[in-house]
Amino acid sequence: MGELQTHELTLYSIILFLLFETLVEIYLTLRQVRVYRETRTVPKELQNVMDQDTFEKSRVYGLDKANFGIFRTIVCDVVIALLELYCGFIALIWARSVQIADRIGLNAASEIQVGCVFVLVLQTLGVMKEMPFRIYGTFVIEERHGFNKQTAGFFVKDQIKGFIVSMVLTIPIVAVVIYIVQIGGPYFFIYLWGFVGVVSFLLITIYPVYIAPLFDKFRPLEEGELKSSIHELASSLKFPLGQLFVVEGSKRSAHSNAYFTGLFGVKRIVLFDTLLVNKGLPEDDPTLTESDKKKGCKNEEVLAVLAHELGHWKLGHVTKNIVIMQVQMFLIFLAFSQLFTYAPLYQAVGLPAGEKPIIIGFIVIVMYVLAPYNTVISFAMTIISRRFEYQADAFAQELGYSKNLGQALIKLQLDNLGFPVHDWMYSAWNHSHPTLLQRLERLKTDGKKQR
Ligand SMILES: [Zn+2]
Repeated sequence: MGELQTHELTLYSIILFLLFETLVEIYLTLRQVRVYRETRTVPKELQNVMDQDTFEKSRVYGLDKANFGIFRTIVCDVVIALLELYCGFIALIWARSVQIADRIGLNAASEIQVGCVFVLVLQTLGVMKEMPFRIYGTFVIEERHGFNKQTAGFFVKDQIKGFIVSMVLTIPIVAVVIYIVQIGGPYFFIYLWGFVGVVSFLLITIYPVYIAPLFDKFRPLEEGELKSSIHELASSLKFPLGQLFVVEGSKRSAHSNAYFTGLFGVKRIVLFDTLLVNKGLPEDDPTLTESDKKKGCKNEEVLAVLAHELGHWKLGHVTKNIVIMQVQMFLIFLAFSQLFTYAPLYQAVGLPAGEKPIIIGFIVIVMYVLAPYNTVISFAMTIISRRFEYQADAFAQELGYSKNLGQALIKLQLDNLGFPVHDWMYSAWNHSHPTLLQRLERLKTDGKKQR
């Protein structure tokens, strides 16, 4: 009497860890909020390039985003997520999915078919939960600070497209995963690993060519000086450059500025239009608004940014990331294979004794049981990513781009209203890139050739 059963203990441990992790994240954000509140003057390193007005705008923008982020975290990750766990939400959805499968003429006894319905229902509910926050973030916060370029119509279409594409990709994968676990025998995790590995290579290959264009417009970079100097830079580094694209309407992700894609053979480089002066268009182009015109980087600065990106390639960062990801995946599948028959995990999320749907086992183990492990790994990956960024900066520096790279980083920061001062703990936990001041500091020291 009164003693906790194993599945209750499991549930409470999961809830406690998630709560602890979320509280730590809120605490770190609050530290950054204090920095936004208390820092009222431009850091001295930037006094020549950032005026007080831009600084103040970036401060208010940062504060707005942080406060909204905390609110969202409390509602979604604390209240809703923990209530769902406590009330056995996942088990309810599973039971409903069995009924739905039956009603729409599927085989309700087939775990694969019910699993597909389950994923669809779970994702639909997930999107509905997120939607008020996405709408507020885009049409209130981003709008207020002049970043929102989306109309309501574009937003709705974009969200629907995103949902359909993600479901078309996810549902068949889920079906095959369940099938492999069912028939794979004791070493199913090896087949699972192979399958997911092949699928991720396929996705990395087809995504830029077939999927990304569904969401954003890509146009070839105009003939001219910039294009020929990029080709020159690429060939001097033996980078197998195929096509060069500019992606339009890139406000969706203000942080990226250029990237390359393609695993084997010829690669393509994509530049965000916001990286280029006048978005890479002629000055009198009718689509340019007044606010677009002052922004963007000069050609040498764009080259410096590309030198950094090509540094990632030359230094093998892409390959290293893929290897880390594959090892990661292997360990996760191995852990899953060892744990997924353990009944209390299923009862912990509300399933009746004896029911052990594979997909739910997968979610519980990967998202909840491995949560502490995921946290450690993601922190380690953030640290590795910052190292890679420094290395790519150093690579561009070696090529003589330190001054132009520094200027480009400053411009991008200003154009995106990035706030330049950070709490060190917040930064260490959240930033996949070193901060602007940290990067400028490194670019200043032992600069080799200047260009
Ligand atoms: Zn980088």
